[in-house]
Amino acid sequence: MNDQDIKNLSTDAVNLAGTCAARYVDSIRDKRVFPTQSDLDALRNFDEALPQNGTAAIDVLQQLDLYGANATVATTGGRYFGLVVGGATPASMGASIMNAAWDQIAIMENTAPTAIHLERLAAQWIVDLLHLPNDGSVGFTTGSSVANLVGLAAARNALYENLGINIEECGLTNAPPLQVVLSEQAHVTVHKALKLLGFGTNQMIKVPCDSQGRIKPNALPEIGPDTIVCLQAGNVNSGAFDPFAEIIPEAKQKGAWVHIDGAFGLWALASPDKKHLAESAWLADSWAVDAHKWLNTPYDCGITICRNPKAVHEVMTTVAPYLTSSENVPPKDMVPEFSRRARGVEVWAAIKEMGQEGISDLINRCCNHAITLANGLQELGYEIVNDVVLNQVVATIGNPDDIKAIAKFVQDEGECWFGTTVWQGRTAIRLSVSSWATTDNDVKRTLESIKRATESVLK
Ligand SMILES: *Cc1c(COP(=O)(O)O)cnc(C)c1O
Repeated sequence: MNDQDIKNLSTDAVNLAGTCAARYVDSIRDKRVFPTQSDLDALRNFDEALPQNGTAAIDVLQQLDLYGANATVATTGGRYFGLVVGGATPASMGASIMNAAWDQIAIMENTAPTAIHLERLAAQWIVDLLHLPNDGSVGFTTGSSVANLVGLAAARNALYENLGINIEECGLTNAPPLQVVLSEQAHVTVHKALKLLGFGTNQMIKVPCDSQGRIKPNALPEIGPDTIVCLQAGNVNSGAFDPFAEIIPEAKQKGAWVHIDGAFGLWALASPDKKHLAESAWLADSWAVDAHKWLNTPYDCGITICRNPKAVHEVMTTVAPYLTSSENVPPKDMVPEFSRRARGVEVWAAIKEMGQEGISDLINRCCNHAITLANGLQELGYEIVNDVVLNQVVATIGNPDDIKAIAKFVQDEGECWFGTTVWQGRTAIRLSVSSWATTDNDVKRTLESIKRATESVLK
């Protein structure tokens, strides 16, 4: 291959990818939300033994478009209500495509000046939006799983340091155990992070919650300078918030470290109308929040924020003679990853596109859609099992088999998608409204689909 061939190959591939991506985006709002069985069956067309010979890039991409695009889930289309899944705003999606072409390695300034510059700016904007400390550490991670891991790792090291123990030197084996106080409703990924950090279940005290999944403050155990208190902004079922104002000041006064898992709920702080829900969240020591959920950036992107940057840097810093940089603390020293995607580019684009007001509108709009859904469900005879304070709706009718049949009917119909859960012992449908692209009409169509399903199952 000569120079011209190399150039043509990449240009042709990116042009074709752009055409296919644009066609996909153009049809997404009309697409079934979950693929048909025949779309899924067509995935077998990919199956072959390890190819011995290569295929032209154009042909590879054509195959990807032909069999791959149809079997995607239309999470960017406005009627996907499963898990807690945002769409992707136009600017952040476009930025992600350009970002892919740039293929930057966002380790430090001299590997990726644009990426690092925009990451820093986005970091500043994020703490401004969420009213969090502007002299802390802000790292862009794969998601809240790793954002929680970073916050809890910083907590572990800082508490040991306060106790006069340097675990960097002596490790955990001979260190006295810390205790972790967390909600019985803590997200599964918090448990995963704690496991990775060497915490055993015997060190964890799970605090009982009320009917909305909020920690009961009077059920908290003795808290001291050996304690990590892990709270939650936005329960994954109910959307409820732990009572921060009642817990954080006292926990801090006793020398504990307070971490908040706010994967989606922390975004309430970006809306003047919803901010009260997370009142006093800003008093914590560390926070995890996702951009790929409610900020509606493409996957994957979480954000880890820590009041005390030193606590993060001590765990994350990497030093080598070939890693010289003029910066104080390059991104590689705020997160576990070394080579990493330039996530800040897409976060910058989303915030620049919406502005503070647009983001506040996005949060309020999703919350209002959740209320419309809850009201519509009630009219259909459903009982709403959570207080709809945020973007989450949990509703039940009939018996557990009816619920599963209703969800399956809706999923098969393809008009929208949501799953089921068990909340407070009751099997229920669970809807999360997290996409910028969800309209009043999407909500109407969703309720109509649920009506058809309900009438069909409960006839
Ligand atoms: C989604 C979620 C997580 C995990 O975040 P990822 O971005 O999937 O890694 C943690 N906590 C809560 C409350 C969540 O909703």
